[in-house]
Formats: sequence, C-alpha cells, structure tokens
Amino acid sequence: MAVATTCNPRDRKLVTLAGVLPDADALGVVPDVIGAWISGKECTFHYYQQYHHVLLHGWPGAIAVSAILTLFARQRWQVLGLCLLAFHLHLLCDLVGSRGPTAGDLWPICYSEPLFRHPIWFWKYQWRLDGWQNQLIFVTLFIASLWVAVRKGFSFAEILGSRLDEVFVKVLQKWGRQLGGRLGFSSTRKAPPAPEHSGVP
Ligand SMILES: [Zn+2]
Repeated sequence: MAVATTCNPRDRKLVTLAGVLPDADALGVVPDVIGAWISGKECTFHYYQQYHHVLLHGWPGAIAVSAILTLFARQRWQVLGLCLLAFHLHLLCDLVGSRGPTAGDLWPICYSEPLFRHPIWFWKYQWRLDGWQNQLIFVTLFIASLWVAVRKGFSFAEILGSRLDEVFVKVLQKWGRQLGGRLGFSSTRKAPPAPEHSGVP
C-alpha cells in the first residue's frame, strides 16, 4: 500500500509504520515476562491483557500515531490520510481475523479506548489468528509485494535500510528475469535497460 501510494522512501516508511504501530500496545508483554522471570512466579501477562487492543486500537490512537508520523513526512496531507487509512486497515484485520484458539476467544475492537469504553465491536465470525484465511492472505500479499518490488525497484525491506532493499530487489529482479525467460516472456533485446534508480546490470 505504501509503495503504491507514496513517492519517496521517508513517506513510505511512515505509512508502513502506521500499519504496524497499533500493536505497540502489546509491549506490556516485555515487563510481564521479565517480571515473572525475576520473581520466579508464573507469568500472568497482566500488562499485556490490560493494555493490548486498548491503548492503540481506537480512534484516539489513530489520530495520535498518524499526527506524530506526519510531523516527519514530506507530503504531509497525503501521509496523514494514508497513515489513518493504514492504521484502520490494521484494526479491520484485527476485527475479522485475530481470534484465539477457541470460539470464545474473540478480540473486540474498543474503538474509543482509552478515552471512552464504548463502542465495542465484535464480529462473531472472526477467524483464528493462525487460521487458513490469514495464511492465504499473507501468501497472496507477499507474492503481490514481491511483484510490486520487481516492477517499482523498491520493496518492504526498505524499512530495514535502503542498502539492504537495493540488494534484495536486485536479487528479485534477477530471479524475475530468469523466470520470465523460462516461461517465454523474456525481452528480445540482448541487454534490457536497467531501472533508473537501482543500477541493475
Ligand atoms: Zn492489532
């Protein structure tokens, strides 16, 4: 989504971050585990249960996270809108596919938390977090993102560093050419032109 809608690396990273930062409210699991390890008691996941899906899974979190990320953006209005969209896409994915192992383990979306208790949204058909639906969506989006990376010359690896992304995309483009050649889609030109910004040989 970020690759398709932004035109510079900084804004792409910001929009990507907006899509994953809602789950920063699960970081209570860190003091939970460390506290249990130090005390020797059984881990109750107190902070995780208390704050996950509460602090950053509603409109207050969406506004706060998007506004902060937009401060660092080049195209601010565009990034603000895209951050809000990515944030809410995360909430939608949680609503439809984040259930625990049993049918009673539904995760609700408390859309006004942490300011107000209501509304609270459930979807009774919410599928398991590790269900086949999520696996199918993951594989589909992963393949699509690789295809976009080959076409555009940059990928999701950009969030880890532009140098790493450059190497990753070069490998993908090389494999793409080899696969295209085997399937009979190779160009008739002896030396296909390299993308403007990647310097592919
Ligand atoms: Zn989430």
